[in-house]
Amino acid sequence: MPSPVASLCARLGKRAWEKLMVAGENRTGKVLLVAGTHGNELNGPWLFDAWQRDPGRLPDSDLALVLAIGNPAARAVGRRYLERDLNRSFDPDRLADAGARELETGRARQLLADHGPEGAEPCLVAIDLHSTTASMGNSLVVYGQRPADLALAAGLQGDLGLPIYLHEADAAQTGFLVERWPCGLVIEVGPVAQGVVNPAILQQTRLALESALAVLAQARTGRLRLPRRLVTHHHLCSLDLPRHGDRSARGVIHPLRHGRDWQPLRPGDPLFLGETGETLPYEPPSGIGPDPVWPVFINEAAYGEKGIALNLTRRRSWPVQQGWAEALAAQAARLTSAG
Ligand SMILES: [Zn+2]
Repeated sequence: MPSPVASLCARLGKRAWEKLMVAGENRTGKVLLVAGTHGNELNGPWLFDAWQRDPGRLPDSDLALVLAIGNPAARAVGRRYLERDLNRSFDPDRLADAGARELETGRARQLLADHGPEGAEPCLVAIDLHSTTASMGNSLVVYGQRPADLALAAGLQGDLGLPIYLHEADAAQTGFLVERWPCGLVIEVGPVAQGVVNPAILQQTRLALESALAVLAQARTGRLRLPRRLVTHHHLCSLDLPRHGDRSARGVIHPLRHGRDWQPLRPGDPLFLGETGETLPYEPPSGIGPDPVWPVFINEAAYGEKGIALNLTRRRSWPVQQGWAEALAAQAARLTSAG
């Protein structure tokens, strides 16, 4: 059942939602940890269950934390989602559309009403724990170029060396959960099959989360030290498998490319293997140019339905800006203490 606040906002429309989602300048809040945004990714929820049974096992932090299972209904049946992908359901226009009544749209409204920056238990930072069937290792996904997000990601990269996928400017993929909080990112760990708990994935997830909380704590107390440069992988476009006229696949990811996320791909490199065994080389899509690209989410199981076999990115090393640290410090200063 949606909360009264969520129901009211669904009726009142966009203005009410904008008010709910805009963080008050002086309002304090907690850090929201989300797992199970996709119901068939079990590692984050496994950690949450263990921590809730024994709070002493929670990552050590001075910050007040809120733990939420993103999509409990999908988790209960072991599916990514029931009616639509929850992590594509946070567009303000969708949230404000009273006609949008899918279970996940309602769940998005509920999460914001409960734990949004102006929610019943306000949270200012959202860290969303995911796993992937692709060989992404321990990695981060950042949406757009919000300074506080970039500072948090830079702190994590300085600490653990994690690669970062910067997703932006893709009209086909919008409405990500963490975008509705003033600061947030995704911790994405793989490879692990859907529906499988894997101790290495648990350990990597916990490690990245501990590092994120440490960076936030440092920002809150004026001790934030960021590396000089940030290396990011900027989304360019998505590629589908080669297909026949009837849309059936006529190839698979090439064995020389499979499992090689974050490694450069140049024109002419093997990319797909055709059904008759022929190698189909990489040809840059129009507008991408001949420079190397860095594929990510190669053969991610959940992206098949979206017509995505891999995403192409371009690596960028850029100087960390002082303004990023200041933006994160401003958010972190309003985070409340544990206990
Ligand atoms: Zn996911």
